[in-house]
Amino acid sequence: MSYVGPDFDPPQPRRSRRGPLTVAIAALVPGALAGWLVWQAVGDDSGGGSDKAGAASPSSAPASPTASASGTDDSRPSTSPTSHSPSTPSTSAPAGSGPLKGKVVVIDPGHNPGNFRHTSEINRKVNIGTNWKECDTTGTSTNAGYTEAQFTLDVARRMRTILQQQGATVKFTQDGDRSWGPCVDERAEIGDKAHADAVVSIHADGSAAGNRGFHVILPASVHSGAADTRPIVAPSRDLGERVAGLFVRETGSAPSNYIGDGTGLVVRKDLGGLNLSTVPKVFIECGNMRDSKDAALLTSGAWRQKAARGISEGIVSFLRG
Ligand SMILES: [Zn+2]
Repeated sequence: MSYVGPDFDPPQPRRSRRGPLTVAIAALVPGALAGWLVWQAVGDDSGGGSDKAGAASPSSAPASPTASASGTDDSRPSTSPTSHSPSTPSTSAPAGSGPLKGKVVVIDPGHNPGNFRHTSEINRKVNIGTNWKECDTTGTSTNAGYTEAQFTLDVARRMRTILQQQGATVKFTQDGDRSWGPCVDERAEIGDKAHADAVVSIHADGSAAGNRGFHVILPASVHSGAADTRPIVAPSRDLGERVAGLFVRETGSAPSNYIGDGTGLVVRKDLGGLNLSTVPKVFIECGNMRDSKDAALLTSGAWRQKAARGISEGIVSFLRG
């Protein structure tokens, strides 16, 4: 997704920020630390850019990635389910023991590397409750051609490894195992049908150079058509605040300097993936692919491991209360 925002505020020094997020982080650290120690014990803290999660670094970019200036992708229920590709959502190996035993986490890697080759399919409109929107979008990319779809799948796979080690059952909306999509309505439906305890949709933004940092997108209260987010607004905010706080702690990234007023949190009602969710769900835009400094982070395997850890810790914190 991308936003056209004010040209840019100078990045804030990380240590001096004293916004609501700082408070949230302070409140979360003790619990997070406990989880962190567990992760240390299972030995997944090399941070060295390895692709342990099985997410090989994508090596080829689509011919002409275009910035998805139209914003996040999500939209909704199609009236023609048969038009979806027949693949089934990927499921993790059986959950073992661990603090998240019995918990179901759905990870939604935003976009699909194949969307670039299926423009007619992804441009089809689906109903997101409030209105109709494209089935999916291509996503954005860095100026050098590393695509958002490659990024999201890599981070998602790293998260799966971490969360499975905690005992969670992890499902994906797509795992590079289908040629395009799914549409945003189906992405939401996968979380709903799994009765997920938490869903996180992974993205990176395509905004103007100079715009930096991450933000977490929370569902607005929407009650229109097939959309009724009222029951999930509060728990999704809780999930989102924890994800934001722990993402900061693990990556050292600052909250977005171009949206969210420095809180790292944004509420939206135009995303089908949120509008159609019946379970706690947030999106995270991990950084701005069109900014060279953020792009340097997003293209680093070591940084993606930190990002995956931060998001996963946020989920663990939410699920453990
Ligand atoms: Zn996106």
